[in-house]
Order: sequence, then structure tokens, then C-alpha cells
Amino acid sequence: MTNPILPGAVIGVLGSGQLGRMLAQSARQMGYRIHTLSPDSGTPTGQIADREIVAEYEDLDAIDAFARDVDVVTFEFENVSSAAAEAAARHAPVRPRGEVLHIAQNRAREKAALAKAGLPTAPFEAVAALSQLPAALERIGTPAILKTAGFGYDGKGQVRIEAGDDPAVAWQAIGEGPAVLEGVVDFAAELSIVAARGVDGDMVDFGLIENRHAHHILDLSIADMPLSSQQQADAREIARTVMTALDVVGVLCIELFLTRSGQLLVNEIAPRPHNSGHLTIEACPSSQFDQQLRAVCGLPLGDSARKAPVAMVNLLGDLWSERPPNWAAALRDPGVNLHLYGKASARPGRKMGHITAFGEDRDDAAKRAQAARSALLR
Ligand code: AMP
Repeated sequence: MTNPILPGAVIGVLGSGQLGRMLAQSARQMGYRIHTLSPDSGTPTGQIADREIVAEYEDLDAIDAFARDVDVVTFEFENVSSAAAEAAARHAPVRPRGEVLHIAQNRAREKAALAKAGLPTAPFEAVAALSQLPAALERIGTPAILKTAGFGYDGKGQVRIEAGDDPAVAWQAIGEGPAVLEGVVDFAAELSIVAARGVDGDMVDFGLIENRHAHHILDLSIADMPLSSQQQADAREIARTVMTALDVVGVLCIELFLTRSGQLLVNEIAPRPHNSGHLTIEACPSSQFDQQLRAVCGLPLGDSARKAPVAMVNLLGDLWSERPPNWAAALRDPGVNLHLYGKASARPGRKMGHITAFGEDRDDAAKRAQAARSALLR
């Protein structure tokens, strides 16, 4: 193993949202210091960090100076440019490496990498210009989904195309490409697997998590989706293949569709901790953020076993629209844990925090998480 980065060292995180905040909490617990860089101040990560640097991600001089002051650079915001990752890499190891970001931040590159690794996905085709769309639709068939290649998340930059729809209207709706056209998957469930890979290639994962969305935003995650041992092994193998093919050091989430015939298809990858993995904070001896820290520091990975059935619900800004949420009512169930990200303004759709709940079984955990959230409106 290369020399590990030990407690007392400085972790540099590009991005300053809740993912960086929860990484910072793990880092602080283990005696590391943490610096964050983003264009904002007073951020969720900055509130916990030792230093909050306010700079644009395109400001390569600022990235250079940032990287000189830290022992390792990781990120929680994946749309950092290759140039910024390269600038950082001149002074400190960047984990995962910039090439992983470069692939994951563009759906066309991501899908091509998945196909190259032999992984199952929905049928897809890269579409660089409107002139290519009719032929692509012909091959993929309808219904289909047209997605912008870059900068899409939480269902933004997507449009569904039905038979007979005008391709030009869809093209305009996503801001005129470049794009990826995908066949619509008739899925039974959406799942994710969050995994960590260390410097020496060791891997752990947190098993299959079931994810339910509302208005394209993650609403509820329930750990330990009860699938066959073959399906669990398949998901694990998909994670291993992705992480090995991309030589990822750090945490990566793979979003999957479970088709009605029981097949697992890869939807997308996120080379960082993931919203669906937040439940690992209470539910696992080493959370996804602990594993990220251990992986990027070159330390052995921790135990990812679940202690009990567990579920998580997101708290969006909408919960604040009438009056401040009733925190005491939500916490009446002792199996409930509250996380708030320190965001100043509660806009509708904005992820403000989450609730994790334990239960007798998966359904009970989900019910208790949802009940606690409903109690916020009392
Ligand atoms: P994405 O931004 O790719 O994660 O897509 C956001 C959501 O849109 C997913 O969580 C799915 O609910 C839905 N979706 C995306 N791609 C497809 C597809 N090919 N077939 C069916 N639903 C999809």
C-alpha cells in the first residue's frame, strides 16, 4: 500500500454542499482537517470545515493554491472541469482521478464507458445534432427519453418522446443538445449500490438500496432490497466492474433499474457518496462518508454491514412553506434521526436535510421515516 494520509492531514473537497458537509463530519471525527472550495460562502460544508475558500471552479490559480495547502483532493460536486482536476493533481493526489469525473459528468461518455465495460444498460445512442435524432429514434424506438449529455441531475434536461412527437420540439426542450437518446425501461424498481474502493483495489459495498422518487427527486430510500442472491451478486459484480474499469479510488454510486423480468440495468453512475447512501451514517459501522475518507486517504476500508432495517426520507424546502417544521413531533419516535444541512433558505425542491429511521423490517422502517416527516407538518 502507498503511504497512507494520516489523521492530522488536510482533506481538500471541491464543492460545498451536504455531501461535503457529511464528509467533513467524518473527517473531523477521525482527526483530519478539511478545506472546501466553491463559489459560495457560509455553505453546508464551509460551516464544518477548517477553511472555506470562495472561488469559481474555473479559477485555476485558486484551485492551484487550494491544492498546495491540502494532502489529498476529493470532490462532492462532479462538474469540476478536467482542467481544474489537472491543476489540483499537480500538487496533491486527486481521488477519484479527474478522468473518472470527466466520464461521469457527460452521459454520452458515461454510457460509452459502461458499454465498453460490457455492462447492461437501456438501449442508447449519442445524438450530437438534431439532424441525427430521427434516425436514432428509428433505431431505439418509442417511447424514448432524450437527455442532455452534460450537467443533468434529478431529472433535469430530460424529455420523453412518444410515437409521432416532433423531434425538433424535444430537441428544443432539452436546450438543443448534445444529448443521449435512451429507450424507456419499464422498471419494477429503481435501485442503487454504493461502493468504496481503496488505493490497493480493496472494495466494500452497502448492498442494494431501493429508491423511490417524487417529481424526479429522490424521496425515499430503503436498505437491503430483498432480491435473489444471484441478483445481489450481479449488482456487486457490476459495481466491481465499473470501479475496476475506471480505476476509482473513493466512493461511487451506481443507479440501477430492476426490470419487470428481473434484470439489472445500469442507469447512471455518480463518482461520490450518494443521497441514497445517507442511511449508512446510522445504519453501518462505517458510513459512505467514513469509507470515502478512508479510501481517499489510502487507509483500510471499514465495515459496511447494516445493523438493522433502515430507511431514509429527504426533507425538501417545501416542508417550510407554511411554517417552520415541527422538529419535536418528528423526533417523538426514538428510532428516528434528523440531519439538517445548514442551508439558509428553504426553496421548494431544495434538499434541506433528511430523516433516517430504523424499524422491525424494511416496510416498518420506511413507514416510520415517512411518519416522522409527516409529523413535521403538525
Ligand atoms: P437520471 O437523471 O438519468 O437519473 O433520470 C432521472 C429519473 O428519470 C430516473 O430516476 C428514472 O425514474 C427516470 N428515467 C431515466 N432514464 C430512464 C429510462 N431509460 N427509462 C425509464 N425511466 C427513466
